Amino acid sequence: MSKLKIAIQKSGRLSEKSLELLKDCGIKIPASTRKLRTESPNFPIEILFLRDDDIPQYVEQGVADIGILGENEVWEKAKDVINIRQLGFAGCKLCLAIPKDEKYTDLSYFQDKKIATSYPRILQNFFDEKGINVKIEEIGGSVEIAPSIGLANAIFDIVSTGSTLLTNGLKEVETVVESQAILISNKNLEQEKQAILDRLIFRIEAVKQSSENKYILLNAPNNKLDEIIALLPGMKSPTVLPLAQEGWSSIHTVIKEDTFWEIIEQLKEFGAEGILVLEIEKMIL
Ligand code: ATP
Ligand code: MG
Repeated sequence: MSKLKIAIQKSGRLSEKSLELLKDCGIKIPASTRKLRTESPNFPIEILFLRDDDIPQYVEQGVADIGILGENEVWEKAKDVINIRQLGFAGCKLCLAIPKDEKYTDLSYFQDKKIATSYPRILQNFFDEKGINVKIEEIGGSVEIAPSIGLANAIFDIVSTGSTLLTNGLKEVETVVESQAILISNKNLEQEKQAILDRLIFRIEAVKQSSENKYILLNAPNNKLDEIIALLPGMKSPTVLPLAQEGWSSIHTVIKEDTFWEIIEQLKEFGAEGILVLEIEKMIL
C-alpha cells in the first residue's frame, strides 16, 4: 500500500508544532532519531525532515506529497502547489524597518531606496502593486545589520518582538503581510494518496475545532431558560436536562473560545450558576 509523504521542517520554529499536530491526530511518530525520514507505525504516512525553504519545491515535484511550512515560504517560492489549510501556529509578520532616527511618513519614503531582504519576491510584488520603485538586495540571513553596514537603507524581514530591530538601531514602519503555518499538497496526488490525505485533513479539522471550542455546563433557573438558550449556539442546540432541584435545569453545550468570556458574563446576568468549562479533546462536526 502506498504511503503519503509529508515534509516538515527538520529543526526550527515549525518543527515541534508540526510533530505535535500529527500526534494530536493520533499519528504515532518514532522518537526522534537523527534520521531524515521516518514512518508512522499506525498511519500510512512517511515523514521527511527538510529545510522549510525547500518544501515548496519538493511538494511541487512530488518528492513529498504534502508539507507543513510558513505561508511566507509558500508565497516567496511561488511553486505550483495546493494550499489546503492554515494551521494556526507559527504566526509572524513581515515588516519594513528603517534606521530609527529617520523620519517616516508613508510608503513613498521607500521610492528609489535600497531594501535588504530574504523575501525578494514578496517585497517586489508589494511595491509593484503600490507603484513604487525600489532596489532589492537579496541576502540569506542577518538582514537586520544591512543598514548599519551600508548595504541597504531599509530592511524587509520577519518581525516578532522587535527587539532584534532595536538592537540594530532600526524601527518597524510597515507590516506588509502576516503569515502562519499552512498545509500544502501536490497538485496531482494519486487516488490512494488523496484518500490518505482526506483522512488526515478530517483529523486536523477535529483537532482544530476542539482547540477553538469549549464544552460548558451550567445550571439555569427555568424561568430564564429561553434567554440563556438564545445565547448558546451549540452544535445543534444545547442539551437541557432537569435538575433534581425544582425550577432548575442543567444546560450542556459547546461555545467558541473567542466569544467565551462575553457569553459567560451574559449567562451570569441571567442567573446561571455552577458554570463548568471543559477542554474538548476532539470534535467531529
Ligand atoms: P530552515 O533551516 O528550515 O530553513 P529557518 O531558519 O528558515 O529554518 P525558522 O527561523 O525556524 O526558519 O522559521 C521557520 C518559519 O517560522 C518562518 O518561515 C516563519 O514562517 C515562522 N516564524 C514564526 N515566528 C517567527 C519568528 N519570530 N522569526 C522567524 N520565523 C518565524
Ligand atoms: Mg528557511
